[in-house]
Parts: sequence; structure tokens; C-alpha cells
Amino acid sequence: MRAAEKRKTVKTLARRARAGADPPARVIDLILYHLLHLHMPSAAAERSYARLKCKYVDWNELRVSSDLEIRRSVAVAPDAGDLVRRIKTLLNRIQSERSQLSLEFLSDLNKGDARRYLRSLGLLSPATIDLVLRQRKRDDVVPIDEHSERVLARTGLVPRRVSKTGIQKLLRRLVPEDRVLHFHRAVLDIAQRLCVRDEEAVKCPACPLREVCAFGRSRCRAAQRNGRRRGVAKRA
Ligand code: SF4
Repeated sequence: MRAAEKRKTVKTLARRARAGADPPARVIDLILYHLLHLHMPSAAAERSYARLKCKYVDWNELRVSSDLEIRRSVAVAPDAGDLVRRIKTLLNRIQSERSQLSLEFLSDLNKGDARRYLRSLGLLSPATIDLVLRQRKRDDVVPIDEHSERVLARTGLVPRRVSKTGIQKLLRRLVPEDRVLHFHRAVLDIAQRLCVRDEEAVKCPACPLREVCAFGRSRCRAAQRNGRRRGVAKRA
């Protein structure tokens, strides 16, 4: 992918996420918000988060509620049962360790200790940890998870078979600092809705990146060729 196309791709992605709300400021809110985004498309994650915030007085009330009740608010996730169990396990772990559902103390730790603590919880994706460190420790890291890696590699924005650190280095050069969160959310949304793991189920014709994406362009060309062949076969 040429440099101009890379810039265009980044711009398209950042523009798409502009409409979404800003991520929450409190650490525990941010973690749950991001967890929802890792399990469902962006608009559904925003709605599910708003529903949970509205339905429960605080996260402790959610922690002690039944799985079935919580599940209704996140039902759009294909793995809603797992998601609910993960949320409750996480909240229970924090509550038993800290005797409260707050992680604001992370602001007082240095970056290494904050990262170690978040890892020790054992349930957070590296992208969620990066996101918290960005927000609380002014880390300039670009959060990357396996879903975003898939989209970025297919588009050609980052080369295949580059380490996660290598991808983050490349993205730091490409994505303007004030657009990083929007960029991350937009990539994640495309990964959830369109650029799914199964190559046969990828929905390139509906993707906003189809004109700049290497994989998408070859997919669309193949679909056109097949369409023409079918047309010829019908006429014969
Ligand atoms: S065009 Fe297709 S392969 Fe490329 S990012 Fe979009 S869905 Fe994925």
C-alpha cells in the first residue's frame, strides 16, 4: 500500500469513529466499555454500555445481579454468556483484592507497576491494558488486539508477519495522537461487523475500506469476474 493510500485509510477510519462518544474516564468504566467493544460492533457496544449504566446504580449492583438479567443488556454479543461471566469474574476479583470497585489508585503507580497489576487480574486483553495506560499514564501506545491486527494486515496498512510491537511502531507514525482512540474503535468495529476471521464470510462489498484494501480489492475483482462468468453461462 502506497503512503498516500495509508494516510487515506487512517483518515477514513478516524472519521468513521468521530460520531461515537468519548470513552469513559474512570478506569473501571473504561475497562468494561472496552470489553463490550471487543465482543460486538461499536454501535451495539455503546448501547449496551449505556444500558448497563442506566440499569444498575453502580458496578457492585451489577456484580451481585444474576447472569440472566445482565445478559439481556448485552444480548447482541454472539458469546453473551461468556461475556457476562467474564465481567462478573473481573468485578469479583477487583472487589476481593481492593475491597472496592475502583482502580483509580493506578494513577499513583508508575507505568510498569500499573501494567503488572492489570496483567495480574488475568482477564484483560493487552489492548485493554494499553488503553488504560494511555489514558492514565500518558502512554503513547496504539492499542492493538488480534481483531485489529487481522484488519490492518488485510488492508495492507501494516505488513503481514510483523510483531505487535512493530505494528504499534508503524501506527504511531501513521495515526495522529488525537485520533488514536477513534482509530482503534473504528478498526475494531470493522473487525466485528465485516472483516471477520473466516475469510469466506468477510463482507468486503459493504466495507468503507474496500477501495484502499488490498484483500478487499482482490475480493471485489474476483466477485465481478464470477458475476461476468455466470452471465456468459446464462446467455449460452
Ligand atoms: S475491504 Fe474486506 S478485507 Fe478489507 S478491511 Fe474491509 S472487510 Fe476487511
